[in-house]
Amino acid sequence: LDPSERYRKGITLGQGTYGTVYKAFDIVTNKTVAVKKIHLGNAKEGVNVTALREIKLLKELSHPNIIQLIDAYPHKQNLHIVFEFMESDLETVIKDRNIVLSPADIKSYMQMTLKGLAVCHKKWILHRDMKPNNLLIASDGQLKLGDFGLARLFGSPNRRFTHQVFALWYRAPELLFGSKNYGPVVDIWAAGCIFAELLLRRPFLQGTGDLDQIGKVFAAFGTPRQSQWPEVGTLPDFVEFQFVPAPPLRSLFPMASEDALDLLSKMFTLDPKNRISAQQALEHRYFSSVPAPTRPDLLPKPS
Ligand code: ADP
Repeated sequence: LDPSERYRKGITLGQGTYGTVYKAFDIVTNKTVAVKKIHLGNAKEGVNVTALREIKLLKELSHPNIIQLIDAYPHKQNLHIVFEFMESDLETVIKDRNIVLSPADIKSYMQMTLKGLAVCHKKWILHRDMKPNNLLIASDGQLKLGDFGLARLFGSPNRRFTHQVFALWYRAPELLFGSKNYGPVVDIWAAGCIFAELLLRRPFLQGTGDLDQIGKVFAAFGTPRQSQWPEVGTLPDFVEFQFVPAPPLRSLFPMASEDALDLLSKMFTLDPKNRISAQQALEHRYFSSVPAPTRPDLLPKPS
C-alpha cells in the first residue's frame, strides 16, 4: 500500500519548526497519527538518502518515553514523517492554571524525561531542542520526547522561526559560548530548565538574546571562576562577564525539597564535563526518596 494512501490526511495540527504537522488516520493499524511534512525543496537527492537512512535508525528506537516514529517517506517535494499521535504536551500542562502539580507529579515528569534521554544518550543520539512543548503527553499519561534527532538531521532551524527564541531559554552555557564539540549534557541542562519550570510554573531563565541569556545564567549560578570551568575562555564566542557570586539556590526555589535542589544543582553545573548524566540523574536519591513519582495514568490532565 502506498504511504500516501495508507495515512488518510486530517486537520492541520500546527506549524512546526520544520514544516506543517497534520493529523492523519492510519488505515493499516486503525490508529490516529501525526504526520510532519518537511519541505526538502531544492535539496539534492543525496540529502534525501542520508535523511532516510538516519530516520531508519530513529524508527528502531523504541521506548515508552520516546515518541514512536512509525514511518517516513518522500512524497513530491516533501519528506513525510509519521509519528504516534499525542494528546497534549508539557507546556500545555505547565500553563494550565487549573492544574496543580504536586511534588510527586513533578518527580514523575522528570523521571520520564530523563529515562527518554538516557536511552538516546546511550546510543549517542542528542536531542538538542528540549523544551516543554517538545515533551509530548500520550493519552495514558506517558511523557515522550518528541523530535529526537531531527535537530541534527535537518540542522538548527533558521532565525526567521520564532521557535528559536524560546529554545534559547533552554540552551546550555557552552552552546551560548559557541561550543561546537558539545555532548549529551546539553540536553541535561535543558532538562534542568524544564525541572525548574515545573517548580516555578514559568520559564526559569528568560533571556532576550544570547548575551542576555548567559547573563541570566550567571546571575542565577554565579560567574564561573577559573577553577570552576577552566576551558570556558577557549570557547569561540566567549566574552568576559563581570563577576557575580551565586545566590543560594534555595532562594530561587523556596518550595523545592532538599533532594530536588541537590539534583537541580547537579543538572545546572556550568562546566559540561562535570554536569550529571541522564543515567546518574535517574540514580539520584531524589527519585528513590518520598514521595514516589506519580503513576503516569494518575497524572493531572488538561481539561
Ligand atoms: P515545534 O517545531 O515548534 O516543536 P512541532 O513541529 O513539534 O513544533 O509541532 C507543531 C504542532 O504540531 C504543535 O502544535 C504540536 O502540538 C503538534 N504536534 C507535533 N507532533 C505531534 C504529535 N505527535 N501528536 C499530536 N500533535 C503533534
